[in-house]
Amino acid sequence: MPPSPLIFAVANQKGGVGKTTTAVNLAASLAAAERRVLLVDCDPQGNASSGVGVRRQTIEQSLYEVLIGQATVDEVLRSTTVPDLDVIPATQDLVAAELELVDQPDRATRLREALAPVLHRYDYVVLDCPPSLGLLTLNALTAAQRVLVPLQCEYFALEGLTHLMATIDRVKGAFNPELGVEGIVLTMFDGRNSLTHQVADEVKAHFRVFDAIIPRNVKLSEAPSHGLPAILYDVQSKGAQGYLSLAREILEGAGDTKKRPRKASKGPPVPKPADPKPEAGGS
Ligand code: ATP
Ligand code: MG
Repeated sequence: MPPSPLIFAVANQKGGVGKTTTAVNLAASLAAAERRVLLVDCDPQGNASSGVGVRRQTIEQSLYEVLIGQATVDEVLRSTTVPDLDVIPATQDLVAAELELVDQPDRATRLREALAPVLHRYDYVVLDCPPSLGLLTLNALTAAQRVLVPLQCEYFALEGLTHLMATIDRVKGAFNPELGVEGIVLTMFDGRNSLTHQVADEVKAHFRVFDAIIPRNVKLSEAPSHGLPAILYDVQSKGAQGYLSLAREILEGAGDTKKRPRKASKGPPVPKPADPKPEAGGS
């Protein structure tokens, strides 16, 4: 068990590659394994918020107020239908944060500073980034320890990666020496398409790619309209199973084999990914 939470930024400046689907379902799968998880919606589109059932109309304050210093994380934090999963929601307001912070000397570290007081309450924090390398992604990369890069296996998939990796290197040098790329998550995988395999092989030649591959699966695209992560919408679906496997791989990678004791939860029963086998010397 890590002493302080592991903080993952789910980032790729390319739009629609499965960042939010990965952030929501990874966060929910880690929570299903009885880890305490905080999901942070860093995207003005607010899809991660709605994906865990937070309705736009009910959001009074969000990440925007936190970043501009008008609210604390505790004031905007919400619990979700998944026991052990909290979310910091986002709304369209967040667009303005990019503009309002641009002249602030601490503009890149606002999120990290804001999260610091609540980190001890969580085992994992998952940051869902917007499809750009602007100030919001910069804040996420500065606050994170590891980057997860969802990648759709299509023709131009690799082109943007070079730019993303250069940005990660710059953030590492300027603000966050601990930052590292945890790996690439292949998303919307269609095994019948030969291009998919070609791209996957090429990515594997250059980067660490998770064994857990997320198939193209309609349940993953339906679940958000019900405000549910896929493990609560249809746990047997290949999509939900893919994310449960990814969570297992991440727990293994973190040497996280033990659950923390916790109070009985009143929430609905949630399917659990199997705990990884304890490793000798794992922390
Ligand atoms: P953006 O860049 O706009 O933030 P994103 O990278 O967060 O997008 P998602 O919103 O997760 O991408 O996914 C884009 C669309 O594809 C959504 O409609 C989502 O439901 C769907 N989708 C994501 N992953 C899968 C999958 N494995 N199978 C089928 N549909 C998927
Ligand atoms: Mg998204």
